[in-house]
Amino acid sequence: MVRIDPAPLLALPGVRPVLAALPGARIVGGAVRDLLAGRPVADVDVTTPSQPQATIRALKAAGLRAIPTGIAHGTVTALAEGGSIEVTTLRRDVETDGRHAVVAFTEDFAEDAARRDFTINAMSLGADGTLYDYFEGRSDLEAGRLRFVGTPAARIAEDYLRVLRFFRFQSRYGRLAPDEETAAALRAAAGKLDTLSAERLWSEMSKILSAKDPGDGLALMAELGIFAVLLPEAAPDWPARLDRLAEADAPAEPLLRLAALIGDARRADRLALRWKLSNAERERLSALLTGDLPAADADAVVLRQALAETAADVLIGRSFLRHLPGEAAAVFRRKMALIPEPVFPLQGRDAVAIGLQPGPALGAALRAVRAWWIERGCVDDADACRAELARLAGVAGRPAS
Ligand code: ATP
Ligand code: MG
Repeated sequence: MVRIDPAPLLALPGVRPVLAALPGARIVGGAVRDLLAGRPVADVDVTTPSQPQATIRALKAAGLRAIPTGIAHGTVTALAEGGSIEVTTLRRDVETDGRHAVVAFTEDFAEDAARRDFTINAMSLGADGTLYDYFEGRSDLEAGRLRFVGTPAARIAEDYLRVLRFFRFQSRYGRLAPDEETAAALRAAAGKLDTLSAERLWSEMSKILSAKDPGDGLALMAELGIFAVLLPEAAPDWPARLDRLAEADAPAEPLLRLAALIGDARRADRLALRWKLSNAERERLSALLTGDLPAADADAVVLRQALAETAADVLIGRSFLRHLPGEAAAVFRRKMALIPEPVFPLQGRDAVAIGLQPGPALGAALRAVRAWWIERGCVDDADACRAELARLAGVAGRPAS
């Protein structure tokens, strides 16, 4: 029996009480992998031989809250110490069709491990620190080898999302290229990716694009004929575009990287519709690829003017995409993050207060004054703006009392 120190996981909110309430349950999957890899662990998943209703009873008997989040799939969410932990009954696959699986509960940990995708994701850990490593996941993790549990082609045919999951985990943990059998199976599955729902594609792609350094993973995807199928909207020189972001120390933001890969607002919009991005995501993607951007060495007035029109994070994103990497661009971004967003000092009621009638003309006058205020560098205060408004509207300006 191999033992490791489970303390870092047991110290996370809720883990200790949940395991204490469920004798025989174990921590499973990503948390065990990341503990062994020395990476921070955010979510802890627990797996248990007990059936969901029995799990709920046991949690409640221990004074913990239990929410039946996915009883049909065996999942209960336990709430303790401010943490929330997914507790799932051990499962085995009964039927798979590449997209959905019919599962049955089991009491056999090895069966549950066998349906997991990669050896490094199939380990479990008892509260006493016993490591259950059915498929040599630990040595694969140490070697930087991402290996399917079982035969790659068969495991991929059960669930084509695993093709993308391969690149998510390869980007994070892989230091070795996939073996020939795995590479061939991935390549052969490229044509099946269109059977996956748009939501699953984007959700998985955004994880791949969140990796610290997604470049190698994407290059491997391209080599295996998967990238072209997945993202035909990408610009032909996408690797260089991604390199430029990395050179500039851009944040690991999926939409920013997607914008870099595509490099064109119309193609980006097509993709946003195809992958069913949210409206907010679609607008951000478009804003990153269109709109104005001051020169990297612009002075403070110009920067304030830009900030009056566009949110700082969008301008910073545009700078990563459009400024040449270099000191001036880095300074531009630092300044953008620090300059407070200028706030136009007048509102509709100020216009009413100086005698304008509510209505479209009032709105137009306010917009005109705002344009004047931006033109002058966003420095005029409320009184100065009010005087300009009165002048423009031809009313006798009187100070608001
Ligand atoms: P992350 O840190 O990215 O969340 P994770 O390992 O927790 O990594 P999840 O997608 O949250 O990954 O899945 C949790 C676990 O469930 C995995 O570690 C794996 O064992 C199993 N799993 C999830 N999706 C699949 C799948 N499509 N096929 C097989 N096993 C899967
Ligand atoms: Mg997870």
